[in-house]
Amino acid sequence: METALLKPGSETYARASEILSSGGLVAFPTETVYGLGANALDSEAVLSVFAAKGRPADNPLIVHIHDQAQLEPLCILPKGARELMDAFWPGPLTILCEKKPAVPDVVTAGLPTVAVRMPSHPVARDLLRACGLPIAAPSANSSGRPSPTTAAHVLEDMNGKIPLIIDGGMCDVGVESTVLDLCHGDPVVLRPGGITPGMISKVLECEVKVAGSVLRPLRENETALSPGMRYKHYAPHAVVTLVEGPEDRVVPLLRKLYQQQAAEGVKSCVLCFTEHVSALSGCHPHDIGSSSDPSEIAHRLFDILRKLDEEGMEAVFSEVIPPEGVGLAVMNRLGRAAAFRTLQA
Ligand code: AMP
Ligand code: MG
Repeated sequence: METALLKPGSETYARASEILSSGGLVAFPTETVYGLGANALDSEAVLSVFAAKGRPADNPLIVHIHDQAQLEPLCILPKGARELMDAFWPGPLTILCEKKPAVPDVVTAGLPTVAVRMPSHPVARDLLRACGLPIAAPSANSSGRPSPTTAAHVLEDMNGKIPLIIDGGMCDVGVESTVLDLCHGDPVVLRPGGITPGMISKVLECEVKVAGSVLRPLRENETALSPGMRYKHYAPHAVVTLVEGPEDRVVPLLRKLYQQQAAEGVKSCVLCFTEHVSALSGCHPHDIGSSSDPSEIAHRLFDILRKLDEEGMEAVFSEVIPPEGVGLAVMNRLGRAAAFRTLQA
């Protein structure tokens, strides 16, 4: 199959709507990452999303909508959902709701809940408006690869597998949406993203928990509240190690680790803050952004993880940021890329 890469515009949306309504797949930008969309009401189309990504069938998809009225036939809103939708939609917050029968089981991987979100990216909004369908869309990467934040990333993984990619430039947030469970008692963030537990807590005026497995590997016999957490994710081919501790010890340790690996002929690099690039100039530094700007680090992270593969890196040593605010989303993705391997400086 030939994969077209088109700029947004009315002709592109007409073509995309035709593809989606006849059961085909379209990749499109959102403010978080690129999504791989299918008509959420068409089981066959949704199955082909799993096939194109090589995604395990037990990992459910998020349904994207343009208008809150589209939710009525799809799900029953849990307590607090409307307040959060009014506060953060359109935007990077996904809410689990009780599923209605109209949503095919393939979308939710057989779960009784369906994840719904209204993206804010103008291209995603225009596409959703033009096609008039709820769109089931996971990230548009091959399963296990870092999520795509540019159309070029999508093409790397999906070339020849889907008919159309809409090129809307680089995604703004850079990490996937916050996934929030309101269906099982106290609100729980299953996957951290651009909408932080603190922001949710302010609107709901109650405590918001964060799933334990966000910052550590899933324990043996522990059930994943969000099936996606079970899988190895965001991982480059290199062995990634996180280095934490006081700044005056982290930088020398990064240098030492790099030099040890390089001396053994292992292709290595460091991921460091902008502030440390010159101190680590001999260590193939990759600038992840300023330590004072977690949003910038989130914005760049997946592109950097993909570059590590392009460069054939075998060992990577990375600085860390406090897991607070958007830093929680960054450390969840970086932690999983490193399989939570951490050294103390
Ligand atoms: P992605 O499409 O790559 O952004 O992944 C969607 C994420 O949402 C995955 O981590 C899923 O496991 C999670 N998810 C989607 N639907 C549900 C659901 N009904 N219950 C729990 N997690 C869900
Ligand atoms: Mg994904």
